[in-house]
Amino acid sequence: MSDPAEVLALLCAALGDRVDTDPASLAAARADKSGHAAPGTPLAVVRAASVADVQETLRIATATRTPVVARGAGTGLAGGANAGAGEIALSVRAMERILEVRPADLLAVVEPGILNADLNAALAEHGLWWAPDPASRAISTVGGNIATGAGGLLCAKYGVVRDAVLGVDLVLADGRLLHLGHRTVKGVTGLDLTSLVIGSEGTLGVVVGATLKLRRLIPGGVCTVAATFADVRTAAEASAAVTASGAQPAIMELMDSASLAAVHALLHLDAPTAGAAQLTIQTDGPAAVAEAEAIADVLARAGGTVAVSHDLAEGERLLAIRRSMHPAMESLGTTLIEDVSVPRSALPAMFDEIARVEREHGVVIPTVAHAGDGNLHPNFLFEGVPDAAGIVEVPEHIWAAADDLFRAALRLGGTLTGEHGIGVLKRRWLADELGEDQWELQRRITRVFDPAGILNPGKVFAP
Ligand SMILES: Cc1cc2nc3c(=O)[nH]c(=O)nc-3n(C[C@H](O)[C@H](O)[C@H](O)COP(=O)(O)OP(=O)(O)OC[C@H]3O[C@@H](n4cnc5c(N)ncnc54)[C@H](O)[C@@H]3O)c2cc1C
Repeated sequence: MSDPAEVLALLCAALGDRVDTDPASLAAARADKSGHAAPGTPLAVVRAASVADVQETLRIATATRTPVVARGAGTGLAGGANAGAGEIALSVRAMERILEVRPADLLAVVEPGILNADLNAALAEHGLWWAPDPASRAISTVGGNIATGAGGLLCAKYGVVRDAVLGVDLVLADGRLLHLGHRTVKGVTGLDLTSLVIGSEGTLGVVVGATLKLRRLIPGGVCTVAATFADVRTAAEASAAVTASGAQPAIMELMDSASLAAVHALLHLDAPTAGAAQLTIQTDGPAAVAEAEAIADVLARAGGTVAVSHDLAEGERLLAIRRSMHPAMESLGTTLIEDVSVPRSALPAMFDEIARVEREHGVVIPTVAHAGDGNLHPNFLFEGVPDAAGIVEVPEHIWAAADDLFRAALRLGGTLTGEHGIGVLKRRWLADELGEDQWELQRRITRVFDPAGILNPGKVFAP
């Protein structure tokens, strides 16, 4: 690696005021929303305004062997966008234009820095939407959603990012621009490199454009079914029964008693019954009413106390309880927000495992789940002292409990991360799930894209 001062001089000469060295900007680029920060401070934040800016930055980075960390909005929960000592943080947040919307072809071409919610507000004017709906949609970028392979509440019915991207424009580490994928519904020409880039967390290249697969806005209203259960296992069994019944809710969210109690306290609602867990389910489209009634039947037979609402505002009020989970956890202390996924029928067993981990490790793990797709977010609560940058490192006893929980998810046929990615926080478990041979193969694939190893080094793959 070259002298940082030389690298900075090259960047400034090529990119002028797009190179930001303000100490506050450098400090902010060290961290995402995971609570983890990179050691040291990056040498610059490059605020790219064009594809050419990204190419120029990467050419300089390759020539000087300087690591580059791509960044969208920095809302990631795995530490993937954290830039540290000697690294360039390459922000594409300012590249936020919608270049094309083609209602007849159900596609849009966008720059990577546009926020998910801003894109959807613009698409709504055409009667269209891009389905991936992370709870962070108002604050996260489409490029970040692609790089993490994000999911959300509606994904069980409408798919995750992987189902909603036709192609990406990718700048390689040496500055070359690739146009991956296609604009057609079908397309099997060559290897599917678009899929490879989705979820690659900035290790293969920088996404500078995306061709997105759109849907028409769903006609008809929505119905919301709220059901409470005596305990979380019964609620999890009920959600598995809904899936097994063949019903396809648009949203099916599960909250355990600890998360429900925390949100009720935050929103100043009456305290829920002790130990009670809740399922909140939404159906949509022309068959919404009939589907909601069928689901209510399944839930009642599974032991739930069920209420059905056809009122949109009431539905939003019920979902707001689920959406308030993050602020509720913040009000309880510091959290490690986890993200395992299991086959949907294994949800009850996974909740048993979480209860076991709580008992055996003496920790508290309020948990919510996208029960429609088997993706759980166990939140490990702990006390900690923030460092100068306001970051609290996760203590070892919490990692030990998390390790136990990850291994339980893998035993149940699950996976380490459903939607947040590996980043730095989970890289030490990657080989446990992939096995040594696949880990090595994946590592070598990153080297084909990035022979000098300058793209997000240390992320996903432990050094
Ligand atoms: C309150 C809250 C709720 C959340 N809810 C959800 C949820 O429901 N579902 C979900 O999936 N996630 C959720 N997240 C996590 C986060 O919002 C997502 O991972 C999101 O996709 C990250 O987007 P970003 O623009 O903030 O990316 P960043 O945090 O900036 O980056 C994330 C990763 O992508 C890489 N990257 C970013 N942009 C590019 C690019 N253009 N090219 C190459 N690599 C790039 C970075 O290097 C990093 O590895 C939540 C986060 C918060 C704070």
